Amino acid sequence: MADSFVTQKKTPTFAARMDTLSRFKISLADLPADGYTCSWHLDDTFFAALDEQLIRQGCLDATLRVNRKSGHFELLFHVEGEVSVPCDRCLEPMSQPVSAEDTIEVHLGERFDDDGEIITVPETDAQINVAWNLYETIALAIPIYHVHPDGQCPEEVSQFFTSPSDDTSGNAPADARWEALRSLLDDKH
Ligand SMILES: [Zn+2]
Repeated sequence: MADSFVTQKKTPTFAARMDTLSRFKISLADLPADGYTCSWHLDDTFFAALDEQLIRQGCLDATLRVNRKSGHFELLFHVEGEVSVPCDRCLEPMSQPVSAEDTIEVHLGERFDDDGEIITVPETDAQINVAWNLYETIALAIPIYHVHPDGQCPEEVSQFFTSPSDDTSGNAPADARWEALRSLLDDKH
């Protein structure tokens, strides 16, 4: 019973998500004088844990360099790889290469604050989880209008001829798009 319940869940539990994201926590209190560099591989579990709408899948390498500056820390992000996002023309998933850099400034203060330019973390708990900063660096690198290369959006007509009978799952719900397309074609004849 418990097993079937778990396998039916589409998004990871909150605890599993937090566990996935805990590896992006950076301790600023223990930072070596000459700074610190770390890297991560970001895959589908990263995007599932963040549960954001735009990017649900991806495969990227991310590097973070943390430098001590006078009075604050400088965090330099670099991400390289590709993500899957819905095409703005056909809404089918498309692969979007990403190569991006971002810099944020982190200060120690009384309480957490993020004004978009400078992040302040409490001096008493001098750490920051950069999972969201990594996601933002990736998301901002995606062009506002992103589409398959010309001529490579799946064509509605070819889908019409291949889809319903090729569906072997048997219990898939009727696809409203086929019904709409079918009535459109019927109207023309
Ligand atoms: Zn497309």
